[in-house]
Amino acid sequence: MRERGYYGDFGGSFIPEILVATFDELVDAFAEAKADPAFWREYETLMSSYSCRPTPLTYAENLTEHFGGGRIFIKREDLNHTGAHKANNVMGQGLIVKRMGKQRVIAETGAGQHGVAAATMAAKFGFDCTIYMGEVDVQRQRPNVFWMEQLGAEVVPVSSGTRILKDAINEAFRDWVTNMDTTHYVLGTACGPHPFPEMVTWFQSIIGSEARRQVLEQTGQLPARVYACVGGGSNAMGIFSGFLDDPVELVGVEAGGRGLETGEHASRLASDDASVGIAQGYKTYFLQDGDGQMKETHSIAAGLDYVGVSPILADLREAGRVRFAAATDEEVVEALRLTIRKEGLIPALESSHGFVQAFKEAPTLSRDDVIVINQSGRGDKDIFTVADAIGDPKWKQFIREKAEEYDA
Ligand SMILES: *Cc1c(COP(=O)(O)O)cnc(C)c1O
Repeated sequence: MRERGYYGDFGGSFIPEILVATFDELVDAFAEAKADPAFWREYETLMSSYSCRPTPLTYAENLTEHFGGGRIFIKREDLNHTGAHKANNVMGQGLIVKRMGKQRVIAETGAGQHGVAAATMAAKFGFDCTIYMGEVDVQRQRPNVFWMEQLGAEVVPVSSGTRILKDAINEAFRDWVTNMDTTHYVLGTACGPHPFPEMVTWFQSIIGSEARRQVLEQTGQLPARVYACVGGGSNAMGIFSGFLDDPVELVGVEAGGRGLETGEHASRLASDDASVGIAQGYKTYFLQDGDGQMKETHSIAAGLDYVGVSPILADLREAGRVRFAAATDEEVVEALRLTIRKEGLIPALESSHGFVQAFKEAPTLSRDDVIVINQSGRGDKDIFTVADAIGDPKWKQFIREKAEEYDA
């Protein structure tokens, strides 16, 4: 990676003066860990004993038959502990925290998935843990808040601004400034100031190196295309990392929400609605208005609902190395239902965005071609949203009866 965390024109580190020494310490700790082969071995051992690594690469025979084109393989990040690739990042950062000798971690969370993963890591390593979460999200994501608290984390509802993810990020930085000697900020995706995009990508690259080895073992060839959904960009960077130097087409799929033309989406690199700016400590494409005010985003998948995007992905798009597409909420639910029926797999709504684009393109490829889709997480967490979208009457009845039980 390039100097000072720039990827072409993107990235960098725009932080308050007071945090410079803390970031320098982190940059050094990360550089030392990266240069130490024993560190990566420790990480792999931890992930194989705690989080089902290596995760399988599953041949989706029925979907392949259904579309009649390229052979579809699915990388099973849903089998990680806590149900998504997020475990790779938080456990890796946990090992870095241990190396730095700190005892407390903080994290931001929107939908709560990263908060649960970070709180899990803190429980395992014995760290104190505080999670910042917008008040609106605390209300919307009660099950995740429940688990974070059970895991021993303090969940702090943030009442400033619009009371969502970006406000939680600001609050986490404020905490860090006051407690930097004891505390590490576990950032949740391949965004933010240097070294986070590079560090998170490095931990997630375990997905891509496994997938490359597995696809060669199982098919004797490299895939024609690799698909991944893109929120902040960590699962995409993770799997793409394994194929960057190969003649493999890489496709990132963003949240098209109610359709790009409606403006209600979270598509930064597949739409023309985002522009380059500096916010939250780094430079990338943001969904912002002319004054740099962040726009409201929408996605059926809470984990993709973010205004910025990894500076590494912004650069890879500019270089023409990664192609971007968007999938609408409606397309996502349809792809999810098909995958459940055909393969007995339940991808997260986030992951299902990647499936949408792969399904559109699979019929145009031949049986000699291989397609890999990254199933970044499992979908059981989405039962409220999916059952609503499908309009299942028995589910509605169940919710009504539960509510009555509590009222009684
Ligand atoms: C959080 C999440 C995402 C989005 O984050 P990235 O950093 O873009 O990977 C995608 N899929 C799942 C299952 C998630 O939980």
